[in-house]
Amino acid sequence: MAYSRDDIDLVRHKSDLVALAKETTKVKGSGNRAMAVCPFHSEKTPSLSIDGARGLYHCFGCGKSGDVYRWVQDTQGLDFTGAVEFLARRAGVTLTIDPEAAKRRSQRESLIEATQGAVAFYTQRLKSAPDAGAARSYVRSRGYGADVVDTFSLGYSPDEWQALVEHLRGLGVRDDAMVSAGLARQGNQGLYDRFRGRLMFPIFDLRGDAVGFGARILDGEGAKYLNSSESPIYHKSSLLYGLNWAKSDIVRADTAVVVEGYTDVIAMHNADMPIAVATCGTALGKDHLDLLRRFSERVVFAFDADEAGAGAALRGFEHSVPGDLDLRVAVLPEGKDPADIVADGDISVLRDAIEASTTVLQFKIEAELGKYDLSRPEMGAKAVQDAARVIAAHPDPVTRREYAVSVARRTGVDVGYVEQAIRSAASSGRRTARAEPDPFESSDVEGDHQTDHPHRSTMYRAELELIRVLLLNDAGLAGVEMDPGLFASDETRSMFARVTVIAEGVPPGDALDLGAALGDDDSPEARTMKELALVDRPLPSVEDLVSRLEVGRIDGQISTVTRQLRQVDEQADPETYSQLWRELISLQQRKRDRREDR
Ligand SMILES: [Zn+2]
Repeated sequence: MAYSRDDIDLVRHKSDLVALAKETTKVKGSGNRAMAVCPFHSEKTPSLSIDGARGLYHCFGCGKSGDVYRWVQDTQGLDFTGAVEFLARRAGVTLTIDPEAAKRRSQRESLIEATQGAVAFYTQRLKSAPDAGAARSYVRSRGYGADVVDTFSLGYSPDEWQALVEHLRGLGVRDDAMVSAGLARQGNQGLYDRFRGRLMFPIFDLRGDAVGFGARILDGEGAKYLNSSESPIYHKSSLLYGLNWAKSDIVRADTAVVVEGYTDVIAMHNADMPIAVATCGTALGKDHLDLLRRFSERVVFAFDADEAGAGAALRGFEHSVPGDLDLRVAVLPEGKDPADIVADGDISVLRDAIEASTTVLQFKIEAELGKYDLSRPEMGAKAVQDAARVIAAHPDPVTRREYAVSVARRTGVDVGYVEQAIRSAASSGRRTARAEPDPFESSDVEGDHQTDHPHRSTMYRAELELIRVLLLNDAGLAGVEMDPGLFASDETRSMFARVTVIAEGVPPGDALDLGAALGDDDSPEARTMKELALVDRPLPSVEDLVSRLEVGRIDGQISTVTRQLRQVDEQADPETYSQLWRELISLQQRKRDRREDR
C-alpha cells in the first residue's frame, strides 16, 4: 500500500457506507442506522447492520464485518489498494504516494521480478536444455503439449547448485531478493539454488504475478513435491494454484472445483473444465474459502473414493460447514484422481462425478449412517444420534430441517425424534465447544458471578454492556470515571484499553470512527466489539452499570477476605485476624455506600 495514511483516512471519512451498500444490496432505513440483506451469505430478511456514522457494518447472520474499504474489497473483488483508488475516485480525492510504503511496494516488485526471472529461466531449460530429457519425457507421459507448457509456464530446474543464482545475477537480481523470494539459500560456500532437478510449476497470485513454485521430483530421493516457503509475496494459506487462470470461468460456471494436485488442475483444464484449483501444500482453510467466495458460492471437492472415505475432503470442516457456501463433495472412482481420469481419456466420468456431487453435510451424514446396519431397527436411533451431531453444526434452521427429514427417511425414525436429537446435540455442542464469549446469550441464572464461567455470568454481561456504551461514546459518559479494575475478565479489560485509545480526545456524545479502528481486524476481540457496537438494543444508564460493576468488585473482595478469615487462627495470629476483620467491615461499608448512591 503506497498511499499515505492521511489520504486513506480522508477517503474513508468522505465515503458513505450506507450509499455504497445501496448499490450492492437491498437496504432498509437510511442515514446512520440501516439494515441490509447481507451480500455475503444467502438470506431474505436483512441481518446486516450498518452504522454510517461510525463507518462500520456487521452481519448478525454470518459474522462478516468491516469498514468501507473491506466492503469494497469484498463486494467488488478488489484488493486494499484497489479499494482505496476506487473510493478516492468517487470522493474526488487525489492520492499521494507515501515514500515508506512505496519502498515496501518496490520490495514486493523486486521479489516478483526475481520470481518471474526464475519462471522464464526454468521454462527455457525445460524446452531446450540437454539435461532436461527426463523432465521432457515426464511432460510427454502426462500428455502435455507445447501449449500446456506455455499456458502453465512449466519449467525444469537444473540439477546444479548455482544455475539459477548465476542466471539471475546476470539479470541484475540482488542476492537478498533471491533469498527473500525463496529461490536461493545462503550456504557456507555462498548462495545456492533452492530447487534442483525438478519439474517446476510456477504459482501465480490473482493478478497473475508469479509468487512461488511447486516443484516435482523427477528421480532420486526426496519429497515428491517441494513448495516455496512463506515469503513476503508467497502466503500458502491464501493462495490457490490455478485460480488466476480459472477465475472468470469459475464465475461463468458458478462452480469452483478443488482438486488435490497441480497436475489435476492442468488435467481439468485440458479436459475443457478450466474451473479447478488446488491448495499449495496445505489443507484447505478459511482464507482459501474467502478467496473462492468472491467468484462462486458453489465449491466442489473432487477426490478419489479412498481419500474421500479417509476424510481427506473434509479436513478443516470437522466441526462445521460455512452456511453461506454450497460446499460439495464429488467422489471419483477408487484410486483415480482427476489427472488419471483425463489420462484414461474418459472425461465423462469426471463430468458425471461433479454433476452428481453431494453437499459436504450430506456426505458427512452418509459417513455417519454408513457405520450402522440400518436394516436393524435398534441401530436407527444410534445412527440418528451421530447424524444429529453433524446436522446441529449447520447455522441455518431451514437447512437443518431439510436434513432432519432426509435422515428420518433414511433411518425410518420419526422426524420429530430426529429434530429433538439435533436440538439436544446443538445445546450440548454449545456447552462444550463454545470458545468465544457470546454476549447475546441470555441466561436465566442470576448472581452467578462467582462461578468458574465468567463468560456466562451476569457480571460479565454487565462488563460487555459497559464496553458497548463506551463504543457508542454515549453522552452519559461525561464526567464518569472508570478504571480497568472495574473489569474482572481479561477480555473485557483488554477491550476497555482499546476503546479508551479510540475515544481519546473525542467528547462523549460524538461518534467514534470505529470503522477505522476495528474495520479490518478479524480477531475474536475486534469481532465482539463490532458486534456490540451494532446490536440494536436500548443503552443502559452508565452510572447504573458502573455502580453494578463496583458492587461486583467489592463482592469479590469480600469473598476473598472472608476466605482468608476462615484460614487464620485467631489465637496464633490475632493481629492479622483483626486486620482482616477491619478490612471486611470497611468493604461492607463501601458496598452499602455504593448502594445508597444509586
Ligand atoms: Zn451475512
